[in-house]
Amino acid sequence: MAKPKNLRSSLPGLQRIAQRFWPHIRKQSHLLIGAFFALLAETALRLLEPWPLKIIFDRVILPSGFNVHGHNIEALAGVSPIVVLTGLAAALIAISAARGAAAYFSTVGMAVAATHVMTDIRGQLYSHIQALSLSFHSRAKSGDLITRVTYDIERLREVTVVAALPLVTHFLTLIGMVGVMFWLNWELALIAIAILPLFILTTTTMSKKIHKVARTQRKREGAMAASAAEAIGAIKVVQALSLQDFLGQTFAKNNRKSLKESAETQRLRAGQERLVETLVAIVQALVLWRGVQLVLAGNATPGDLLVFITYLKVAFKPIRQLAKYTGQIAKAVASGERVIALLETEPEVRDLKGAKPAPAFRGDVRCNNVTFAYDPEQGILRNLTFAAKPGQQVAIVGPSGGGKSTLISLLLRFYDPIEGGVHIDGHDLREYTLTSLRQQISIVLQDSVLFAASVRDNIAYGALGANNITVSDAEIKAAARLANAHDFILELPQGYDTILGERGATLSGGQRQRIAIARAAIRQAPIIILDEPTSGLDSTSEALVSEALNRLTTNKTSFWISHNLSTVQHADQILYIEQGCILERGTHAQLMALEGRYAQMYRTQSGSYSAETSYA
Ligand code: ADP
Repeated sequence: MAKPKNLRSSLPGLQRIAQRFWPHIRKQSHLLIGAFFALLAETALRLLEPWPLKIIFDRVILPSGFNVHGHNIEALAGVSPIVVLTGLAAALIAISAARGAAAYFSTVGMAVAATHVMTDIRGQLYSHIQALSLSFHSRAKSGDLITRVTYDIERLREVTVVAALPLVTHFLTLIGMVGVMFWLNWELALIAIAILPLFILTTTTMSKKIHKVARTQRKREGAMAASAAEAIGAIKVVQALSLQDFLGQTFAKNNRKSLKESAETQRLRAGQERLVETLVAIVQALVLWRGVQLVLAGNATPGDLLVFITYLKVAFKPIRQLAKYTGQIAKAVASGERVIALLETEPEVRDLKGAKPAPAFRGDVRCNNVTFAYDPEQGILRNLTFAAKPGQQVAIVGPSGGGKSTLISLLLRFYDPIEGGVHIDGHDLREYTLTSLRQQISIVLQDSVLFAASVRDNIAYGALGANNITVSDAEIKAAARLANAHDFILELPQGYDTILGERGATLSGGQRQRIAIARAAIRQAPIIILDEPTSGLDSTSEALVSEALNRLTTNKTSFWISHNLSTVQHADQILYIEQGCILERGTHAQLMALEGRYAQMYRTQSGSYSAETSYA
């Protein structure tokens, strides 16, 4: 999507964002309406600010010297000048204080409303991402999704306060001031606004230049941070390959360029500042030049001139920030569009109409003529059929890339088959609600993910997802014992309360797996899926994990993917899958007798024929 560059091209986007988020915005309507009135008050008070001074000039300092038509405040005639002066001095303070209060309420009101809206949207976005299908997640970059939940939302929030609000305020102020100027003296007003187009043109051009350089600099700094992070993260390799000098030179080169760009931005900013001041001075000089003539001719009062000069100072300066604000709004629109795009992505796998909560499963699992592909051109599973009776252990074996994990994904309904169907207890998975289906399936994967929480919580999460109830300490310990994990957990510094490092980094692979098994056990699901759970473990760990797994799968329908055929040879049924087809099926003995692919793979693994006789 092309990024909108200016305010006008941002408008459709802004409208879409407002429409899409309207339900959230409407909830804050009280605050927003309050903030808007505060904004109007602020603008009106700002317009009023030079008026006490004008009246002092015209009525107190020069009470009768100027006979000017129009705008005389007759109500003040006859009042003692000192009373008028005191009243006006007090008004000066009151206007300024009231304007400050109004500005405070409009800023705070907007900020609070925007924060509420964005917190709502962020919550919705987070749940939405969690609900999106795996097919979406395997395409999406996780960094990108995280950016949308954090950075994009934050930018939307921030911009409402730091750009949209000032933009509206300045705009209203400008309109108000031009109106008042015309009311006071149309000729001076024309002189004042004649320079406006030139002013807007030069400042926006300069701002664009500044943005361009600043953007290049930000990009370079981002790249530098990334390369520094990469080099530091891989410091071992960098030092081993003696790449320090090479990487250091590249970094230094970018560093120097960034310095130049930074200096350039500063130079342009300072230049713009001076230009604005000069332009404002030129307008003021022109207004003064003509204004004094008008005053001397009796067509304006000195106070009028004062109001003009003050307005010019106040109104023109913020315009130079126009480009900055519109640029920020355009970026926020891009952020908003990204958030909306994500919110509008429909999960491919979701509860179908009429889906019912699944009853407690017995564990009869069947695949009937299942065909599946991630993308239509490349078939992954072809016409697969098999049946697992309740309590049976089914091993799924075969070469890498054959489709074993894909088959398992279909059992969990991460994806739906293109043809055929997966049935549990006689019903197609799609007849059940997703949550009630997945609640009754436990998984242990090759690289089990543990969360940065206590061991106790990590185990308890298994039950949490299944029925949302808290589990007792005794249940957690029983699950840990079943998983051969209790003993080593007690040896951890704080036992069950030990907080694990991110992804369980503080534990060994085997220990992580045993906690994952405890987590699966506490779920008490009738169907269990194991995807290479002993892969990469040393033989002692593997023995402990395998023993735990056997206990876990007792009396449960289980599917066990394994590379290592010796771990699954006692399975009730072994499916040998290659290129998405079940080529062989049966028990270990039957498949060995068949002398086919399985037997060949088994012999290659065990390295000798003698192993066959001892296992058969
Ligand atoms: P196995 O578990 O037997 O090693 P997989 O089921 O992981 O096999 O993969 C089967 C085929 O599907 C492979 O060719 C793999 O490249 C492809 N594949 C796996 N996951 C995806 C995915 N998310 N998107 C597209 N293709 C995939």
